[in-house]
Amino acid sequence: MKAEIIAVGTELLVGDILNTNAQFLSRRLFALGIDVYYQTVVGDNPDRLTKAVSLAFSRADTVIFSGGLGPTDDDLTKETVASYFGVPLLFHEEIAEQITSYLHRPCSESNKKQAYIPEGAFILENKRGTAPGVILEHEGKTAILLPGPPRELLPMFSEMVEPYLKARSGFVMAERMVRLFGIGESSVGDMIRDLMESANPSVAPYAKDSEVTLRIAAKAQTQEEAEALIKEMHERLKERLGAYIYGYDEQDMVTTTAALLLKKGLTIACAESCTAGLLAGALGNIPGISACLNESVVTYSNEAKIKYLGVLPETLSAHGAVSRQTAGEMAEGIRKTAGADVGVSITGIAGPDGGTPEKPVGLVYVGVSIADAVTVRELHLIGTREKIRQAAVLHALNEIRTRLLAET
Ligand code: AMP
Ligand code: MG
Repeated sequence: MKAEIIAVGTELLVGDILNTNAQFLSRRLFALGIDVYYQTVVGDNPDRLTKAVSLAFSRADTVIFSGGLGPTDDDLTKETVASYFGVPLLFHEEIAEQITSYLHRPCSESNKKQAYIPEGAFILENKRGTAPGVILEHEGKTAILLPGPPRELLPMFSEMVEPYLKARSGFVMAERMVRLFGIGESSVGDMIRDLMESANPSVAPYAKDSEVTLRIAAKAQTQEEAEALIKEMHERLKERLGAYIYGYDEQDMVTTTAALLLKKGLTIACAESCTAGLLAGALGNIPGISACLNESVVTYSNEAKIKYLGVLPETLSAHGAVSRQTAGEMAEGIRKTAGADVGVSITGIAGPDGGTPEKPVGLVYVGVSIADAVTVRELHLIGTREKIRQAAVLHALNEIRTRLLAET
């Protein structure tokens, strides 16, 4: 089954409103195993809307419309679709009465427009507004018209349209997000080129915030079959990329690392220079983290690194604040002063100024101290100051995670 989405409204075209309805509908149609190959946005203009409708039905059997069901003259979706199908609009007294009872006042002439429904259509009652939705089946094509306000469209879709489409689709979808860290999108592409050619299950990479996510999606007649297809592809991905996989679905890096610390019952303390508390802030977002986050210090200056972490002045003068040696002493220092199981440090040059040929912007050291063994990772990050600082946090969390996994 192929469907398209047409969002109607000049306010969308001029950028006043974000087309969140299309995003919602696309996600839901995907989950129903319905293919969506096109989304269209068109203004409140009957000629252009007619063209969009005609084009959409040349490609798909079902078109879902959002918006243009309002009481004003510019809302023309129903009129345009009915005329495209050559179906008359008929007045429904019971809808006029529903509108009256919803508004607690007599139905105005404008509102009466909303009580006209294409002949032979199913009416989708709107409990949260005045515009009813419509399902119109005509010569093998189906038009589903939904009101624009998300607070009306979302429940109407979930309560009435989804069951209708589910019965017709005959398919279900399953999906799994496989999260990778420490590898770029192009390298992932090179390593799984053949797997990415698979149509069902499909595998698609997305790069975001210094990490790559692979989305496995499978379509089948039963949930079990779809899950089995996912599992099989997941195994193949693990064979090729296992070392980079750290989590699944909603489980991001901070959630994963925090869960590991909590599971192992270990405490952690952080000493941050260039990230100035971002790592502690990220951990602080995790509910229950107080069981393991002992303390965190922001040690920006050399004096602070000496005073709070016991970094040796000689280390700073010989190697500088951004160095492997300083990062190591910072991690060990915070672990000891905090009496924590894990000490972690970040020191680096976030830019845009302050870089030198020897120590360019983006040079960051992450230190992790666990049970007297200190490891320091040298990173060469790219991007804006904000990106470098965010990436440094993710790398630090990943360092903690890999060290903890290696400990067992
Ligand atoms: P309408 O059904 O065209 O009268 O739309 C009424 C209101 O719903 C608009 O003014 C927007 O605030 C909202 N709206 C319409 N279309 C969308 C859309 N595609 N995504 C999100 N909000 C929308
Ligand atoms: Mg409108």
